[in-house]
Amino acid sequence: MLLKKEREQLIKIALKAQKMGLIALTFGNFSLRDPETGHICITPSGMDYEELEPADIVVMDEQGKIIDGSRTPSIETPMHTMVYRKRKDVFGVAHTHSVFATAWASCEAEFPVVAAELAALVGEPVKTAPYGRMGTVELAEKVTETLQDKHAVLLSNHGVLTVGPDLKTAFANAVIVEEGAKITYYAKMMGQLKVLDEKECKTLRKWIIEKYGQK
Ligand SMILES: [Zn+2]
Repeated sequence: MLLKKEREQLIKIALKAQKMGLIALTFGNFSLRDPETGHICITPSGMDYEELEPADIVVMDEQGKIIDGSRTPSIETPMHTMVYRKRKDVFGVAHTHSVFATAWASCEAEFPVVAAELAALVGEPVKTAPYGRMGTVELAEKVTETLQDKHAVLLSNHGVLTVGPDLKTAFANAVIVEEGAKITYYAKMMGQLKVLDEKECKTLRKWIIEKYGQK
């Protein structure tokens, strides 16, 4: 089987996202790009994550041409493959409909940075891509145009997409964007939002890259 280890990692992350409440039922999809072959592994369309086997993961090239796998790939394949074509630095993509991020995507054009952890991991306000119908190339274009070189983008009336240099980071970004969306929502309910400015976001982002965690 092609890329067995990578397929297993994809299932592990999808299950983790489900366990953490980022996805309901089968909504949301995940992919990774293997740095060696350039092949993309993506979750199949509409299958229960608990029942996924490595063979259910679809392997394709960046044009979406299937290389290995008998399942129908995620309906958001055009969005994932377009991100990989446009962003050579991206090796992991997470797309969820997590509640608070989707709520922001349904009412605001931009999601401000209030929580320091969002500043540190994502590094800037999260913009909302204009509405596009799910699964379409039109949506993929709007999402990649808004994403630019950033780590996260909200999908108007739909959800959120996060990217990273690997799937683990893309997933962590999905968690942090949702946490940030939740914190910002509650803060807004409590009073005037105190937004972290661009300079502080950049400083926090630099700090986490250089200093945080085990070296
Ligand atoms: Zn979706």
